[in-house]
Amino acid sequence: MRIRGFGLPDGESIDLYADGDRWTSDPVPGADVVAEGWILPGLVDAHTHPGAAAPGAPLDDEILRDDLRAHLRSGVAVIRSPGLAGDPPDWFGHSDDSPRASHAGPWIAQHDQFFDGWGRRPGLDDLPAVAAEQASRTGWAKVVADWKFGDPVIPLEVLREAVTRVHAAGGRLAVHSQHPEGGRVAVEAGVDSLEHGMGLDPELLSRMAVQGTALTPTLSVISRSLAEGGRADWYVAGASAHPALTAAAVEAGVTVLAGTDSRPHGRIGDEIRAMVTAGVPVHDALGAASWTARTYLGLGGLNDGAPADAVVYGADPRHDLSVLDEPLAVIVRGRLIHLGQR
Ligand SMILES: [Zn+2]
Repeated sequence: MRIRGFGLPDGESIDLYADGDRWTSDPVPGADVVAEGWILPGLVDAHTHPGAAAPGAPLDDEILRDDLRAHLRSGVAVIRSPGLAGDPPDWFGHSDDSPRASHAGPWIAQHDQFFDGWGRRPGLDDLPAVAAEQASRTGWAKVVADWKFGDPVIPLEVLREAVTRVHAAGGRLAVHSQHPEGGRVAVEAGVDSLEHGMGLDPELLSRMAVQGTALTPTLSVISRSLAEGGRADWYVAGASAHPALTAAAVEAGVTVLAGTDSRPHGRIGDEIRAMVTAGVPVHDALGAASWTARTYLGLGGLNDGAPADAVVYGADPRHDLSVLDEPLAVIVRGRLIHLGQR
């Protein structure tokens, strides 16, 4: 197959052939043009938990398959799951029904925190070793640093030890936080990615940029929860400040990643638009769901030798974000995704 058009981030004219799972500019005999238009490197949803009907519910193969297909139809070629309801089946991340995937296995949380039925709850003494063991298996571990208002936050020395052991195991550590103190501890511990980061002191953003801690703000789901109303004061305060925090993070040079977090799946366009509404430049918001996230995860873009993922739109998404919901073609691993009924 072959794609032609203008490729982002630069907007240059491109003409690429999929040779198996690699892009090449060398013509591949018999390759048909499957789409022409504005082309983004295959999208990335960096924070999604597919496969469970509700918080606390077990991993279900049928739900997982449906969720992953929703991601594919939205142009998502890569997901990172910072926490899953269980160990995924072998086809996860590999079959035609699935984007590429990395995951952190079950969440790691403190006793009496997080959703009942999900995750593991080692004692603080064991937490760094449990995180390292998970990261050695799947490349990532996910620790829940804080939960409800007033709950104890994971102590800084425990999180620091977890970072050290996870890195020694060759992995990366993602940390959930939605309170100021949890965010501060995560940044001071030097974690690899801060998830949500709601309530984070903006003064810490420059430190995140310098040490390479990414932020996945999950802005659209937090803004949606706020709009639904009935939230506690601490949530209202953090969620109300979250759009400005997200824009300030980009401004400060933090690696910001797009993540949709909750059901329904396939809403990466909503997250990009929420970032733009928050004041993130459109170029950076698209990058957060595409080239920036791909680089963060070690994947290339629309260049020779890179993995053959792309999404093609009929108009320039930098000028019309509504096209994100109507891709002309989605290509993952060099194969055209059947978009079907939308
Ligand atoms: Zn999450």
